[in-house]
Amino acid sequence: MTAQGSSLRTVWDPAGPAGLPFGSNSMQHGTAVFEGIRCYATSRGPAVFRLDDHLARLLASARQLGVPHDYDLPRLRERVLAAARAGGPDEVYLRPVLHTPDERLGIDLARFRFVLAVEVYAMAGEPATTTLPAGVRLTVSPWRRPAATSFPPQVKATGTYVVSALARTAAVAAGHDDAIQLDPVSGRVAEATVANVFLVRDGRLLTPWLADGLLAGITRDTVLVLARRLGIEVVEGPVEPADLSRAQEVFLTGTAAELVPASEVDGHRTDPRGPVFRAVAEAFRDTVRGRRFDDLGWLTHTSLSRHTNPV
Ligand code: PMP
Repeated sequence: MTAQGSSLRTVWDPAGPAGLPFGSNSMQHGTAVFEGIRCYATSRGPAVFRLDDHLARLLASARQLGVPHDYDLPRLRERVLAAARAGGPDEVYLRPVLHTPDERLGIDLARFRFVLAVEVYAMAGEPATTTLPAGVRLTVSPWRRPAATSFPPQVKATGTYVVSALARTAAVAAGHDDAIQLDPVSGRVAEATVANVFLVRDGRLLTPWLADGLLAGITRDTVLVLARRLGIEVVEGPVEPADLSRAQEVFLTGTAAELVPASEVDGHRTDPRGPVFRAVAEAFRDTVRGRRFDDLGWLTHTSLSRHTNPV
């Protein structure tokens, strides 16, 4: 994780108050929906990676949870780009959060008014190519993901991150860096606490299929697309916990952390500098900064889009 840790600023929508009251429903019950989006430095200035894919997922989260709001895709786009442009480093992590400032009791979300705020975090920027990560130590958590019949896995709501926090905190207390969580119904590998998981076995890239209750990560999708372009065989399918101890490489993917290799899973050693990880990670860092595969249309340049989305 290259995040600098603390927030640079919060950009409140003038449509709502600046601040989230302690008694608000989103604060008390974790009912906000959110996204995490990266803006990278490119030779044509800062560019947001897969902006519309993230915003479409935010709108889908709000729709599935029944969160009432007045935002459409162009309005969200304008607000997130404005937050990215507000000065500071080119490389930032943007977190648009649809939350309710309403201080009333009740949990029928249709009764509340939801507004947007965008939290902006500084990121460290591109690491030197000579820096090879040491790899994280993973463990399979006894705490499973929520069943897809208990909470929809595609809804990114603030409250559900308590589930991830429980598993991560327990894993770190036991001497690991992160936890892999299983689907409670199938018992198969779902994802890590805030990231998707990939395994490499005999040169082939494998990641759990969406049937096992994981978030359809946008970085996961990016890795699948890039790996195919690199000629790597990729499989989305059922992943048993035992497959982890047969993998030569394991790595995690997420917008904030990007691609993070593992050095072990519950004592089984995996190569954090393996050839598949290195090839995909290099393609990823070039793609997000516009040096490769620009034809995919994944970059929204913040300066070029300034006049195209007036509000
Ligand atoms: N799974 C979970 C539970 C997450 O919180 C995240 C981070 N959003 C991911 C996977 C990775 O998703 P993405 O690549 O879209 O950031």
